[in-house]
Amino acid sequence: MQIRVKPMGVLRQRLGKQELVVELSDGSTLEQLLEKLALPAGMVQVVLVNQEREANRQRVLHHNDEVTLLAPVAGGGGGARASTGYTLDEVQTVIRALYGEKDTKRGLQGCFLWFLEEVGELSAAIRTNTASSIAEELADTLAWLATLANVAGVDLAEVFHHKYGRQCPGCGQLPCVCPSEVKP
Ligand SMILES: [Zn+2]
Repeated sequence: MQIRVKPMGVLRQRLGKQELVVELSDGSTLEQLLEKLALPAGMVQVVLVNQEREANRQRVLHHNDEVTLLAPVAGGGGGARASTGYTLDEVQTVIRALYGEKDTKRGLQGCFLWFLEEVGELSAAIRTNTASSIAEELADTLAWLATLANVAGVDLAEVFHHKYGRQCPGCGQLPCVCPSEVKP
């Protein structure tokens, strides 16, 4: 059987592909898939099977299952800062894996209030002009924006590309030639 594997972030860099198809014998488990991929222990933190979080590594896989692999979210201070190379798609996937269940319960309105709270915190960070808090609040704001997109069922990369990918949606030019008081 064939399993479609989607490695995210550093795992994608490590495996060198956005998506790969792995051939396994019928009845193979998630653990056997991970063994076959030969990733160092601890490098895969969260696994999604067909977009649902799966904690059981003994889960039996089926032909054409999609397995998403997430590395541990870089946390704590210190250490070298490696670029994670996240795409917007991966940002949404990470947020879904971390908070998807809670976010669905909160609903769009509830999540929007959290988003606004983060925007307020970002505003405070910009007012005090502290680089570290600005960075942190930007991360929180993006996380909640991704949450909103997940709950609303919107593919952020797709809508962004559709609106801004080619030219300014206001004047149709690149770069934008709209008057400076206009923002599309
Ligand atoms: Zn323009």
